Amino acid sequence: MNEKGNLSINSENFLPIIKKWLYTDKDIFVRELVSNACDAVTKLQKLARMGEAEIPEDEKFEIHVVLNQDLHILQIIDNGIGMTANEIKKYINQIAFSGATDFLAKFQEKAEQENEIIGHFGLGFYSAFMVADKVEIDTLSYQAEAQGAKWLCEGGIDYEMDAGNRETRGTTITLYLGEDGKEFLEESTLYAALRKYCSFMPVPIFVDIVKESTEAEKEAEQKESNTIHISPEEAENLTKEDALEKLEAKKAEDNEDPKPLNDTTPLWQKQPKDCTDEEYKAFYHQVFFDMNDPLFWIHLNMDYPFRLKGILYFPKLVEHMDVMDGEIKLYANQVYIADNIKEVVPEFLLLLKGVLDCPDMPLNVSRSALQNDGYVEKMSTYITKKVADKLTQLFKNERSVYESFWNDIGVFIKYGCMREEKFYDKVKDALLFKTTDGVYETLPEYLEKNKEKHENKLFFVSDENLQAQYIRLFKEQGLEAAILSTPVDKPFVSFLEYKNTGVSIQRIDADISETLQKKEDTEISEAKKQAEEHTNTRMEAFFRGLLQNDSLKVSVEDLKAESISAMLLLSEKSRRMLEMMEAYGN
Ligand code: ADP
Ligand code: MG
Repeated sequence: MNEKGNLSINSENFLPIIKKWLYTDKDIFVRELVSNACDAVTKLQKLARMGEAEIPEDEKFEIHVVLNQDLHILQIIDNGIGMTANEIKKYINQIAFSGATDFLAKFQEKAEQENEIIGHFGLGFYSAFMVADKVEIDTLSYQAEAQGAKWLCEGGIDYEMDAGNRETRGTTITLYLGEDGKEFLEESTLYAALRKYCSFMPVPIFVDIVKESTEAEKEAEQKESNTIHISPEEAENLTKEDALEKLEAKKAEDNEDPKPLNDTTPLWQKQPKDCTDEEYKAFYHQVFFDMNDPLFWIHLNMDYPFRLKGILYFPKLVEHMDVMDGEIKLYANQVYIADNIKEVVPEFLLLLKGVLDCPDMPLNVSRSALQNDGYVEKMSTYITKKVADKLTQLFKNERSVYESFWNDIGVFIKYGCMREEKFYDKVKDALLFKTTDGVYETLPEYLEKNKEKHENKLFFVSDENLQAQYIRLFKEQGLEAAILSTPVDKPFVSFLEYKNTGVSIQRIDADISETLQKKEDTEISEAKKQAEEHTNTRMEAFFRGLLQNDSLKVSVEDLKAESISAMLLLSEKSRRMLEMMEAYGN
């Protein structure tokens, strides 16, 4: 059997486009080819379960990635379902099957805005040509009496088919790496791509690096494997038993099963009830390289009406930083897709760290299409609800624990409230304010506690250092203010006020004179009254001149305060106006 033909596609430009297109994301081919190998294994296992295929009981399904640095060859070898010659014709030669044609249409339309296509999905097998000048498939189908088949293509639209060489079931994809792929001859580049895309794929992956070692290296290796190391002290009184033991140990060491590169059963695939806290933490460290433990986490596990699994972690705030440094990794059936896709994950959740596996997600589309997709909308609603539920549960059932987390999670919650109406509605009762009394209160709690002193008002501190004097005064007077000093608090204050009609929120140095207690002078002498009025007029004139503002009002009052001799107040309205103008750069 030797057959030649043309790939059935309607564009001769297909492969050149593929090459050009993913210039920056070349490593995608690793994901595509290794995930095809995984699919090949899973398909066969499925057939076996249905009684459609027979596999020996001790069969070990494995994928081998073999890099030959001397020959510039990279191979992906599986022992999965394999293909018959007819299947190659159907699935490989007719590119129309997969997303490729679709992709091509879209790509040509959007050639100018390459980034529009999200993560480059569904390109599949042909992504091999991003790095290879020549690609060969050598495959033997699982079917009884199947004939091995071989396919070869040098990157144009011509291919060649022939009898295959494989004697065992499965597929070997051989890439003859060209100029565009030579970086993958580096062990480290190859490993980086494998770790990125394949760390949680469901079939064990092993990497073999083949390089022609020099004669001297070979000799040294050979010698090492025949040598047992014994120290002079040990040699002194070595018994026969000791020697045998050492031999055994050496043998075991040499025969040790190599470990696969990937974790085939990532934690998110397990049932939450079967996972321990230690496992959740270890998984977090492993995936996010964060030495800190996460505060808590949410294990998402849903099958209906769509499938979604994942773990979302609430990280500790990075020290000395008010921003959270999040990272949400997206997977489809344990195949890594991308990080932080705003169109899939509600934006505020990107402040968290986590993994999401969404096998049903329509990945083969542009970002804008994804945004309008009902699936994404539903998923996002579901995740938002789960996060809100977890927070309100913690608040209700473990208030003190929740309070201890507030400094770390407050930023996230406030940001989330402003970004998502639905999120705010769900968590609004669990919004806390740390006050100058060192306690954590909800808005209703604060209002209730302070209603004798001031009604429907929330005072806050935006800078504990700058406003130290006012805080002292507040404390002296038995008043309390919320500390809202992170960058997110500025817009959050306005948001809160808008959401809580009737509650006025004022900075601690705002129009507080009504609230402050004055010295009770029942009998004010005429002389004192006059003196006060005099000071008033003088001060008013002084400040009007100073600030060039004739409508300025100045009042002199005797405060019930030990520590303060004088202070300036600025109306909340004016201050916010100034703040806004500053924000707009005026
Ligand atoms: P997709 O995986 O989305 O179907 P690909 O272009 O990646 O598209 O692969 C096309 C088809 O080629 C697959 O659906 C499968 O039938 C076949 N194929 C590719 N790689 C293998 C493999 N390693 N073993 C068996 N079949 C394969
Ligand atoms: Mg594929």
